[in-house]
Amino acid sequence: MAVVGFIGLGVMGRSMAVNLVKAGHEVVAHDVRREAVADLAAQGAKPAASVAEAAARADVVVTMLPDTPQVEEVVLAAGGLAENPPPGRLLVDMSTIAPSAARRLAETMAERGVAMLDAPVSGGPQGAENGTLSIMVGGEAEAVARARPVLEGMGRTIVHVGPAGAGQTVKCCNQLMVGMHIQAVCEALALGRAAGLDLVKLREVLLGGAAASWMLQNHAPLILAKDDRAGFRIDLQLKDLRLANELAFELGVPLPGTAQVTSLYLGNRAHGEGDKGNQALFRVYDRMTAQEG
Ligand code: NAD
Repeated sequence: MAVVGFIGLGVMGRSMAVNLVKAGHEVVAHDVRREAVADLAAQGAKPAASVAEAAARADVVVTMLPDTPQVEEVVLAAGGLAENPPPGRLLVDMSTIAPSAARRLAETMAERGVAMLDAPVSGGPQGAENGTLSIMVGGEAEAVARARPVLEGMGRTIVHVGPAGAGQTVKCCNQLMVGMHIQAVCEALALGRAAGLDLVKLREVLLGGAAASWMLQNHAPLILAKDDRAGFRIDLQLKDLRLANELAFELGVPLPGTAQVTSLYLGNRAHGEGDKGNQALFRVYDRMTAQEG
């Protein structure tokens, strides 16, 4: 069992850190939100008031932060992990950030003798809670092997996909598919609604055939219940689509579907829906079809 410094106790990080406690690891937890740290302490973790304190005795430090700037701050800013590396000399960033930033951070830390893996996840808050996340890992094989027992406390599918940055590149592929799969569900429901179909039956039969998807399984019921509460926020989905679009631009790869679904999500944001769950893409279809419910 390892001593794990865990930084970032939000929607995902909280459940992931709790699962590490349950798996028997010693978790030293930090977040800028004090109430999140107190909550984790009540679940059996040790509270840390700073990044340095979270890393001080750790075999490995895990970060689960919103975006590239927060990860760069926690690693590179004064008092960060570059100045205060854990004794185990291993960092695992599980946030979704730019692949180029993940590569740069791994290089910077390697110069200090610290291995850094990019290990973003898929599976949503439910996967985080159940410990069934899919984890796509980029970095050196030796460091991946060292991190594996800790990753196994949070996920079920753990695949070493390549060198530093490869995990984030796979996550870009994941997120453009997530966006387009939700869009596909929205279009089927919008058409079915306009035709006066029973949408519960529509979903039921589609789930048994070639149009079945995780989104149809998990998000269509939320759409039908008009439940826009966030697991995964529109703003985070837009961040991930921006990362996928930027990578496509860097590589000169046309991704018309990704560009189009990004515009639809920008329509959500323009209507002040950035804090809603990504199933709220259906609100864009409500407006386009002048129908509701
Ligand atoms: P979140 O906003 O709920 O949590 C982020 C946490 O980081 C917050 O508790 C915040 O207080 C903390 N934080 C921010 N800056 C900090 C700093 N400088 N130092 C310490 N703590 C800081 O986000 P989330 O939904 O848990 O997502 C985290 C990451 O996982 C994101 O990159 C997201 O894209 C990715 N992700 C989210 C989901 C999901 O369904 N929510 C699924 C897969 C991947």
